[in-house]
Amino acid sequence: MIPYENSYKTPTVLIVDDVPANLDVLVENLQQENIELVVALSGEEGYRLANEIKPDLILLDIMMPGVDGYETCRRLKATRETTDIPVVFLTAKDNERDIEQGLCLGAVDYISKPFSMPILKARLRNHLALKHKSNLLVQLACTDELTRVANRRHFDYVIERELSRAQRNQTDLSVIMIDVDHFKLFNDHYGHPEGDRCLKQVSRALSSVLHRPADLLARYGGEEFIVLLPETDADGAADIAEKLRQAVFSLSIPHQNSDSDDRVTISLGVATCRPKESQIVEDLLESADKALYQAKTHGRNRFTAACHSTHHN
Ligand SMILES: [Mg+2]
Repeated sequence: MIPYENSYKTPTVLIVDDVPANLDVLVENLQQENIELVVALSGEEGYRLANEIKPDLILLDIMMPGVDGYETCRRLKATRETTDIPVVFLTAKDNERDIEQGLCLGAVDYISKPFSMPILKARLRNHLALKHKSNLLVQLACTDELTRVANRRHFDYVIERELSRAQRNQTDLSVIMIDVDHFKLFNDHYGHPEGDRCLKQVSRALSSVLHRPADLLARYGGEEFIVLLPETDADGAADIAEKLRQAVFSLSIPHQNSDSDDRVTISLGVATCRPKESQIVEDLLESADKALYQAKTHGRNRFTAACHSTHHN
């Protein structure tokens, strides 16, 4: 649910070279470094592995049978999942034109053979340190500071992508808009620090309900959260909405101005985009928002599902 891992993990370097002896030398020398090494013997395999394991850096040979290093780099840079992985060419091709071509394809560095192992190691360390910083920046840009779940910016980005994907693959997509009931009264009575603590507890309870990697929980506004559920139909979304409601109810956070048992509750609005409907993000969110409003007017601590328009296109 959280867009990026918080903890520092050992960086992974993927080495792609068609000559096993070259791989052996690199693996042997890089083993003492604090990095995880994965090897591939062809451009195709390298591209596939890069998508699968998302390494922090790729050391890429150029001259390989089949898909060569240039083409592999081009494909990596053209693929959303791998475009931000730094590529370092390590090759016997050492004239100016080769180096220029490699760097113009988006490689961060170009090392010609024969090379010095200490310099190679130093360069890898520098590139990995930069990659780590860039990961942290991406994480900061996507995360809500208080609750550590995704922020609205990240949600807006993901929902566009997921809605197009749903329409392309003809699958359902659901969203659940969530609002903490009478939160203003909570803040007025218990104070803002307590309000912040409440939002953290609520977001943790909400996350605990979501288990699939593609499900996304985001903080949408002050006391508003939103859940994106790819490949989930209206029944599935209703099921999750009820679990979310229960999870927050079970926290039993005292709230003396609440309508329900003097505790903090949430209201939820569910909207689903079905495969045959072509919808835009704004309309889907508006449906969820209207459903949320209904849940509020019907007494809070409940979810309402949006009514579907019957016209299909
Ligand atoms: Mg080669």
